[in-house]
Amino acid sequence: MSVADGLRSVQDRIADACLSAGRDPSEVCLVAVSKSQPIEAILEAYEQGQRHFGESRLQEAIPKIQAAPEDIVWHFIGRLQTNKAARVGELFQVVHSLDKQEQISRIRRDPSSPIAGFIQVNLEEEQQKGGILPGDLDKFIKTVLQCPSVRFRGLMMIGRFHENPEESRPAFRTLKELATRYGFGEASFGMSGDYVQAIQEGSTHIRVGTAIFGQR
Ligand SMILES: *Cc1c(COP(=O)(O)O)cnc(C)c1O
Repeated sequence: MSVADGLRSVQDRIADACLSAGRDPSEVCLVAVSKSQPIEAILEAYEQGQRHFGESRLQEAIPKIQAAPEDIVWHFIGRLQTNKAARVGELFQVVHSLDKQEQISRIRRDPSSPIAGFIQVNLEEEQQKGGILPGDLDKFIKTVLQCPSVRFRGLMMIGRFHENPEESRPAFRTLKELATRYGFGEASFGMSGDYVQAIQEGSTHIRVGTAIFGQR
């Protein structure tokens, strides 16, 4: 399947999911996760009108960002090492994986154009995953919210993989409730296997790689 076909089929399922949930498709941002994909694949999706792309490793992303059209909105979705935060702050427009105060304080942007930020939550308290534990979220948000270089837009989670995507719903619902409780209108959850369920549970940013580009 070509990238154009993959993208079209994802767009169709997004439209159906929005219809079934009574949501306006303009509320859902499709972030095409292009990690491990060559620039050609990005350009193929771009040709079809895709403008939001997600990368998870800075070193891999830099040459792609430099080679790609300027009107792409780049989302950093991977683990963010503190010593890379400044560079991510320069190159990306959105960062989904904020989970450390030191990282956030290293991002320097003109306060008139802050980077859009999501706080990653380790909702299911999995050892191998980054993110703030739910019990620490209150304190974390109070500490970082005033940072002038980041405009905090919402919460993000990387769900557990389930054979049956219906099983992703409870965690999605909890994350959405948490985001709403903190006054965030946005929430980043849902990947190739469960973005339909994510949209139905109120996700505003789905991060989809394999379903568009094929296996990495
Ligand atoms: C790789 C990745 C995705 C996309 O995963 P797919 O299953 O290929 O859609 C989404 N979010 C994050 C944080 C990722 O690292």
